Amino acid sequence: MRLGWCRLAMVDLDGTLYRGNQVIPGAPEFILRLLENGVVPVYFTNNSTRTPEEVARVLRTMGIPAKEHNVCTSSQAAAEILLNQVGPGARVSYIGMEGLRLALEESKLIPVPAGLSKESQGAADAAVMGLKTDVTFQELADFCQDVARLGRFVLTNGDLKLPTATGFWPGNGSFGRLVEAATGVHPKEAGKPEVSFVEYVLHKFGVEKESAVLIGDNAKTDIAAGKNAGVYTIQVMSGVPAGQTTEGDSFADETYASVANIDL
Ligand SMILES: [Mg+2]
Repeated sequence: MRLGWCRLAMVDLDGTLYRGNQVIPGAPEFILRLLENGVVPVYFTNNSTRTPEEVARVLRTMGIPAKEHNVCTSSQAAAEILLNQVGPGARVSYIGMEGLRLALEESKLIPVPAGLSKESQGAADAAVMGLKTDVTFQELADFCQDVARLGRFVLTNGDLKLPTATGFWPGNGSFGRLVEAATGVHPKEAGKPEVSFVEYVLHKFGVEKESAVLIGDNAKTDIAAGKNAGVYTIQVMSGVPAGQTTEGDSFADETYASVANIDL
């Protein structure tokens, strides 16, 4: 189906516009076609570690004319949830990288690295966990203490594995399971496939769900997010090496080999 009715396209990154550090052939041209047709591209990512500015810069080095304003990360979605939980000015214990720290700050929350909350001006009001690739045992232990005391925490995203060039890394969801096992507290997730992440984007750009499309390679996160939110979904098969198939059956509205093949 041609996408003439569409005003906004939420586009996944890894496996959809690039794989590893290689741009997917035709992806820059696809984004240009969106722009020429008056469709706003939103770079819609569960990666909580990078700031929107960093994500846009990486995309631009691949020839994709991305602007910081059009990047929506799971860290921003997590900050929105926390803001609704505790309000502006609250202290938030966190494990994460610059993408999460900045998202908290931009939502008028006070980011406090896990373990530092007890030494400074008082206990944290909320807790959030994103991927931190140099996380220490002590940080995890201190974060678990905060979560046990608060009885709740937010997880930027629940991805159990992160694909790498040579295999996989444990994803943020795996660290979330560690905290859940130690504390007995089940996290609230912010990223895909949560409906709230899609709604956050629609609200930010003032677009109705009937005028939006979600494009991604992962059935369990991208396509499920779109389906759960009532948004038209397109699955691309560019996320897995040729000859392999994705896990489970696709239940997207449409399927293409890659974004290069999508009609506008
Ligand atoms: Mg992907």
